[in-house]
Amino acid sequence: MDNNKIPFNLCAEDTKQPHEHCKICGVNLRDVDTYGIQKVYKNYPQQREAQVLFDFALCMPCMESARAELSQESRQRIDLFMREKMMDLALSGISPSERYQQQQCTLSGKDLNQVNDYQVIAICKGENLVESPIYISDMILDEIHELLSAKSRDELDRFTENNLDWPPELKALIKQGDWLPI
Ligand SMILES: [Zn+2]
Repeated sequence: MDNNKIPFNLCAEDTKQPHEHCKICGVNLRDVDTYGIQKVYKNYPQQREAQVLFDFALCMPCMESARAELSQESRQRIDLFMREKMMDLALSGISPSERYQQQQCTLSGKDLNQVNDYQVIAICKGENLVESPIYISDMILDEIHELLSAKSRDELDRFTENNLDWPPELKALIKQGDWLPI
């Protein structure tokens, strides 16, 4: 099962070590059942490699509480959207791990080096991945953001502001909807 180990590129950017704590509640991630790692990248035309804007890990209860900021309708719309996209993928006979290995957006198949920004979401347990990480490109994020009600967007902004505590220089780079609890 060694190929299920969390890959190095999902380590924490600042320490280059596996994420240890939940960004919001601080719980040790070895003490929780499952947790999620999210990393947001941006491509710059002059740079060969995408730059990591930010990354963090959240325990499942904190991921749930982020989602709870969204209205029930917004959550249902996101869930439906994700389910339909994953169903399309399954019907096309391509697995999420193929997309992941080929550095393509899991949901659109777009090459990640051809989009402005993208993020990776990985659900983990201890030192292992629970399933293949998924990449989501900016186009898909925009589509998801469109599904949110104005109220949900505001709630989400407030949640991000209160809990994720991004440095001001980073906030300037992030536009609304760059981070979504999916
Ligand atoms: Zn937590």
